[in-house]
Amino acid sequence: MADNIFQKIIDREAPADIVYETEEVLAFKDINPCAPVHVLVIPKRHITRLREAEGSDEAVLGKLLLAAAEVAREQGIEESGYRVVINNGRDAGEIVPHLHVHVLGGQNLGSLPGG
Ligand code: AMP
Repeated sequence: MADNIFQKIIDREAPADIVYETEEVLAFKDINPCAPVHVLVIPKRHITRLREAEGSDEAVLGKLLLAAAEVAREQGIEESGYRVVINNGRDAGEIVPHLHVHVLGGQNLGSLPGG
């Protein structure tokens, strides 16, 4: 079993401001937000990062994106727009080794992807 902060949030061993949950996906507010809306969407089943995702993860990867869109809708940023980011590896600044999708919005995010 992976031992990282997101696994602890899934297991309810660490606190989080959970905003959306299904059988396979959990979404909670980022503890250090980069925008007025900054939510992380994660699979409950451990996938270390996108690089480690396999064919058998195809369905849950789709569910992560659909959940991201639903979170954006519920957070009120569907019309204004939002950015969805997955950091993979060192150069992307990945910190937590449990796949997560950042949903960012609520302000103009600039023109660079991820910028
Ligand atoms: P990344 O750089 O893509 O690995 O992003 C990890 C994100 O997790 C960062 O934006 C952190 O602020 C966030 N984070 C770390 N610990 C927690 C936590 N306990 N609750 C919510 N977000 C967290």
